[in-house]
Formats: sequence, C-alpha cells, structure tokens
Amino acid sequence: MFESLSDRLAGSLKDLRGKGRLSGADIDAVCREIRLALLEADVALPVVRSFITRIKERAKGAEVSAALNPAQQVVKIVNEELVGILGGETRRIEFAKNPPTVIMLAGLQGSGKTTLAGKLAKWLKDQNHTPLLVACDLQRPGAVSQLQIVGERAGATVYAPHPGTSIGGGDNALGITAADPVEVARAGIAEAKNKHFDVVIVDTAGRLGIDEELMAQAAGIRDATQPDETLFVLDAMIGQDAVSTAQAFQDGVGFTGVVLTKLDGDARGGAALSVREVTGRPIMFASTGEKLEDFDVFHPDRMASRILG
Ligand code: GDP
Repeated sequence: MFESLSDRLAGSLKDLRGKGRLSGADIDAVCREIRLALLEADVALPVVRSFITRIKERAKGAEVSAALNPAQQVVKIVNEELVGILGGETRRIEFAKNPPTVIMLAGLQGSGKTTLAGKLAKWLKDQNHTPLLVACDLQRPGAVSQLQIVGERAGATVYAPHPGTSIGGGDNALGITAADPVEVARAGIAEAKNKHFDVVIVDTAGRLGIDEELMAQAAGIRDATQPDETLFVLDAMIGQDAVSTAQAFQDGVGFTGVVLTKLDGDARGGAALSVREVTGRPIMFASTGEKLEDFDVFHPDRMASRILG
C-alpha cells in the first residue's frame, strides 16, 4: 500500500532539489502536485484541503535554516504534517484500573474483526495479559467457530454460546444464531471476572453495509459491557467508502480507536490517511496480513516515513 503515493510525493518533492531559494510559485507548484497525489490515493477531500493549506502556510513562512536547504525544509514540513494527520503520538490501550479491561470490536463484515481478535489476544498474551475472547458475532454462520480457531492459534480461551443452547429464546439446528449477543457479552464478562481473565475482547457482528439493526445491536453490546476501548476495525482497501463507514460507526456506536486492516494490500490507502482527521479518533493498531503476527501498534511517525520513502 502507498507505493504509488510514495512515488508521486517523491517525484513532486524532487523538483525542489537544487533550488537555492523557493519562490511562492515553487511552493504553489509543489503543493498542487502533493494535492493531486493525495486525491489520487483516495484521501478525503476536506483532509487534503486542510493538509495543503497548512503546508503552504508553513512553507511560505519557513525561516531560512542553516542546516536545511529549502527542499529539505519542505520535506520536513510535509513529514510533520503527515505525522499530524496520522495522529501524532502513538496511542496505547488504556487498561482498566479494575480488571477486566473490556475491548469491543466493531466494523463491517469482512473488515477483519475476528482475525484481529486473535491477533490482539496473542499480542496481549505476549505482554503477560490473560485475554478472554467472547463470541458475539452470532449473525454470520461460522463466525463462532472461526473465533474458536483463531483463539486456539493464539492460545487464548474463547467464550461462546454452546451449540444447542439458546440463550435468547428461539431455536434452530445449532441454537447459536438464536442466542442474544448482548446476553452472551454479559455472560462473557461475568466469566472473565469469575476466572480472573484480565482483558475481555468482544467480537461483534458486522454486515456488508451499514444497517440500523447492526448499529442497534452493537450499541446494545456497548451498553451492556461498558467497554474501556471500542475499536473500529477498518479495511484500508475499501477506499472512499471508509470515511462514511467510519462516520456511521462513530455516530451509531462510538469508538475510542481505529484498527486499520489489510495494509498489505495494493489499494491506494487514502482511508488510512483520512480516518483520524475525519473521526478525531486515533489509529491504534495496524494489521498487515492474515497471520497472527502480521500486526502491530500503529506508529504515525513510522507510517509517515514509509510514505515519504
Ligand atoms: P470479520 O468478518 O470482520 O470478522 O472479518 P474476518 O476476520 O473474517 O476477515 C475477513 C478476511 O480478511 C479473512 O479472509 C481474513 O483472513 C482476511 N484478513 C483479515 N485481516 C487481514 C489483513 O490485515 N491482511 C489481509 N491480507 N487479509 C486480512
């Protein structure tokens, strides 16, 4: 991801090299190039606008520095502003003073929530936490067993409604889809308290598109579990739709942080660059593949350096 954005940015900044002094026209020209590069990478228009305005103001007002030539100075400004739109500081999970810390995952179906649940569990275990995964995606056939598989891989316990039991009434062959995810979430937290798990990761159902029933269900789970962190899981490959999806989840459920998934893909990546500015919530983790270890804390400065090459 970001290869073409990186190439274009490098190309536009290269034109500045060798110039002793930058005129206003030079700065306007490079800003036009940067603007096009960002728009082509699917970065949301309001984000591009404010980004370019800041770069222009700072580049035009930049003091002459003995250490940096004008081109280097513009690169430095672009780098700092990129770090800024990516959130500035790395934001870590805030663990509850009284365990268990509850982390709820929300996002569209296919965004990578269940995979992330396993990755987070492993990451937490590596730091000597004892996570319990709670299966509240009772919508998608196979989601519970998928969570059980990733839990097993991560060496983490999974709390799920037992096949054949019907917590919320109704019945079918497995009984699972008849269970009420809010009840499962509540029971999962009680289980964590009883058995001294210090973190609870609640996997929730996602639909292919935003829908009110999904939002109401996620909000119900939120109210029942009072999560310390609600992570919005966003597939970075979905392009322009990322912004409206993030806004819908922000309005419908609310979240404290974003996890970007599929950053290993070859899409244009504008979602990654827009979501922080648009929602005001930090990107906390990045997922870069299907394996448990393809996952890390998100570092805005490292991502900006990667984009600027
Ligand atoms: P959910 O519906 O939100 O629970 O999504 P899943 O966890 O089932 O993930 C949907 C698909 O995306 C699965 O095939 C995952 O293996 C895949 N996936 C998840 N995260 C990543 C990632 O970071 N990179 C890639 N390439 N694939 C991913």
